[in-house]
Amino acid sequence: MSGIPPFDVFRSLLNNSFRDKEPWQIVTITTTTVLATVWLWEYCFRDDESLLERGKKQFFRLARYVPAIRDRIDTELAGINANFEKEAAHRLTGISTVRELPENGWSETEILDMVKKCVNLGNYDWKAGKVSGTVYKDDKALVNLVTAVYGVASYTNPLHADIFPGVCKMEAEVVRAACNLFHGDSESCGTMTTGGTESILLACKALRDYARDVKGIKNPEMVVPTTAHSAFDKAAQYLKIRVVNVPVNPKSFTVSIESMKKAISRNTIMLVGSAPNFPYGTMDNIEAISELGVRYNIPVHVDACLGGFLICFMEAAGFSLPPFDFALKGVVSISADTHKYGYAPKGSSVIMYREKKYRHHQYTMTTDWPGGIYGSPTVNGSRAGGIIAACWATMMHFGKNGYVEATRKVIETTRYIEQELRKLDGIFIFGTPATSVIALGSDQFHIYRLSDALSAKGWNLNPLQFPCGIHICVTHLHTQSGIADEFLDDLKTELALIMKTPDVPVAGKLAMYGMSQSIPDRSVVSDFTRYFLDSMYYIPSSEVKPEANGKLPGS
Ligand SMILES: *Cc1c(COP(=O)(O)O)cnc(C)c1O
Repeated sequence: MSGIPPFDVFRSLLNNSFRDKEPWQIVTITTTTVLATVWLWEYCFRDDESLLERGKKQFFRLARYVPAIRDRIDTELAGINANFEKEAAHRLTGISTVRELPENGWSETEILDMVKKCVNLGNYDWKAGKVSGTVYKDDKALVNLVTAVYGVASYTNPLHADIFPGVCKMEAEVVRAACNLFHGDSESCGTMTTGGTESILLACKALRDYARDVKGIKNPEMVVPTTAHSAFDKAAQYLKIRVVNVPVNPKSFTVSIESMKKAISRNTIMLVGSAPNFPYGTMDNIEAISELGVRYNIPVHVDACLGGFLICFMEAAGFSLPPFDFALKGVVSISADTHKYGYAPKGSSVIMYREKKYRHHQYTMTTDWPGGIYGSPTVNGSRAGGIIAACWATMMHFGKNGYVEATRKVIETTRYIEQELRKLDGIFIFGTPATSVIALGSDQFHIYRLSDALSAKGWNLNPLQFPCGIHICVTHLHTQSGIADEFLDDLKTELALIMKTPDVPVAGKLAMYGMSQSIPDRSVVSDFTRYFLDSMYYIPSSEVKPEANGKLPGS
């Protein structure tokens, strides 16, 4: 055989196997084989999820057909659901509930009274700085200002640019000012959105459509660090983009650039970096990600939702930070939340682009609707002019110096807490906090125990998973005098107690959270998360009807 070329071997093999076939059979076999191959290829590689991921899901789906397993899961879930409802009801103790529109409208006093009661429910004293993140500033003068501004603009809508041109102007000014803060040139642009999630969703939409129209990418993938915000997964689910997750370096807790490079394919529409990320507060090496973006001609999105309005003032506040914005050539879009460290009321964020061509792909246009030619820049049709005005007002109220000062306070407080925590035995800090988030872990005890113990003292921290951790996101409320030390003192006391019995397992509310990480069937975790969301819409059955004298029962 040594003298026969391989192609001849292949040819004679093929000819032999088809020797007794009629032409129609050859055609049919060939067509079927081609179609089956294409189908198999699509099945294996053309899906939002990897084959392994789908295989796992299918396995667990099948397992649920086994009656014993199904019954067990159903019983557990029913118990969990009942528990969520009980907790929801408990949170509402002492307040009457409404199930139907009142026959006649309530008076202003009744309404305000009830709103205040509703807002004041809950066990954590966020005003005293006991809560991680959540509310970023509580300043009477600012609240009064945004309330007055909202009052003036509450019924306006930038959808009707001809009727409210000035609301559009305020939006344009917020965007312009933000672009300048992030070193955008005159081509840079953006829009306001309702929050970080919408900003991210729109960046993914814009870059997906850009990749499709300009590069012909039909099966879009985005390369995302595991630590990036879950809004990217949400966007992927809405927009049918495949997420390619990239691990972080186990020491620095910033994305591994080597792994990111390997994750790039012909279908990659965007690379993502966080400045900083939510879980650990570490900042990815945006410079290196930008270089990858330039080298492979792939847009880079920087998620600065959390820290955006800190990082652009840090230099002026006296802290150094590696570059993270449009000053880097590869950075094409940036999301930054005005409703976090921009200190605007909730419901506003900014999505920015390096060039107008990207923003064009964010828009949606309907040209043939009987209601008119309908173009809209963001997800919503009608938009809240009041929120735009309130955000604009907040930015004008602070000015550059106001933000620099606020940033200085937040970062100084964070650095102080970090420095004190590093002195303690039994806990460690994940990576290097870039801005205002400090994440803690422990090799010696279950870190959720510390969270639980601090919760009993009124502190509300965020639990992290894979690996277990807890974090505190320092806001302006923590910069009030004495709060950082009170936190550190409570933490030291509880840590000392825990270190006496480091092997005790975690109990209390966080036990389930800890346990859920070991459930291999993640759909079960989805199920109970679903029930948790249901419980937020659960109203225990007690009715409230304003009495004839105008007083609420129980008020
Ligand atoms: C808060 C946050 C988001 C999402 O913003 P929302 O305003 O909650 O929708 C995105 N990325 C990071 C890093 C965040 O902290």
